Amino acid sequence: MATPTPPTAPAGAPHAAIIGASVSGLAAALALGLRGYTITCIERDATPMPRDHLDAFEKWDRRGAAQTRHSHVLLAPLVKLMKTHAPDLYRRLLDAGAEELGFPELARNSFPDAVLEPGDEDICFLACRRVVFEYVLRRYIAERHGVRIIEGATVVGLLADPGTPPRVTGVEVEPTAGISRIAADVVIDASGRHGASNAWLAAIGAQPAEQESSPCGIFYTSRFYRLLDGADYPLLCSLVRLTARDPLDYDVRLVMAKEEIRPLHIGEHNVCRLGWTSWLAHESADGVVIVPGNAY
Ligand SMILES: Cc1cc2nc3c(=O)[nH]c(=O)nc-3n(C[C@H](O)[C@H](O)[C@H](O)COP(=O)(O)OP(=O)(O)OC[C@H]3O[C@@H](n4cnc5c(N)ncnc54)[C@H](O)[C@@H]3O)c2cc1C
Repeated sequence: MATPTPPTAPAGAPHAAIIGASVSGLAAALALGLRGYTITCIERDATPMPRDHLDAFEKWDRRGAAQTRHSHVLLAPLVKLMKTHAPDLYRRLLDAGAEELGFPELARNSFPDAVLEPGDEDICFLACRRVVFEYVLRRYIAERHGVRIIEGATVVGLLADPGTPPRVTGVEVEPTAGISRIAADVVIDASGRHGASNAWLAAIGAQPAEQESSPCGIFYTSRFYRLLDGADYPLLCSLVRLTARDPLDYDVRLVMAKEEIRPLHIGEHNVCRLGWTSWLAHESADGVVIVPGNAY
């Protein structure tokens, strides 16, 4: 398939500088791209684009967003926004393996006598690995909106004209990136929950932005296993599918031969394997994992 030519923004189009090219930065770029802005994203991670979404899962080194490999469920308002404003992006996510989770089906599975309201059939979530979502979104905005992403560049402050309040005119980038100032009509801070925008605002004499936060009350971990090359394990696959789908009371026990267990250390660029030894000495790892029913 031919690569689409990036559209050129109209001469005199406003320029937006977006700090961070993770999901919020990329989503802001999509929204502004649809409104005709030229856009530059500045991303601290120096992470060349992987070949495709599978390569992204294996190799994309996105240390700036530690949860990159976690499974995500994208909520219904986001799904609706994509279907309305970027249906081709939504199609690409489905093509990459994202799975629609319809609300009526989920409700009936959990509460057999659930009473649905008109319109509930339009509510849909999307199950997608976050890394796949980010990869597909990044590729899409680069192709469709010609967004420029400067990688390996850290924003260290705001440029501003003095005044009351001061007027932000761009961003200052750590000089090691070979570029130190980027002028912009609009600056968006999408640098995540550890972002330093209040310190940057204080440095130009502006008031801090109001912030709201609350604990989400959820803690979870996820781990991915890859079947050995060339093996398809149909029985295992159907058992795992069953435990993930049906709230019955049973477990699946996965066992690996002891001699196949490789020592793995945190920070290594290895994909997870059954028999993970990071938390136990290699000698103590037994290669046994119980997948409990009801836990998905
Ligand atoms: C375990 C876990 C599970 C989750 N599950 C879900 C879920 O199921 N559904 C859901 O909707 N959400 C989920 N979330 C939340 C979701 O992952 C986050 O809300 C989302 O990743 C935040 O994206 P972001 O772009 O705002 O920030 P981040 O992903 O934190 O990205 C910030 C980016 O800014 C860059 N950056 C930082 N500082 C600078 C700087 N000074 N200069 C340049 N670049 C900079 C970083 O490198 C990074 O790329 C989950 C989160 C966690 C931790």
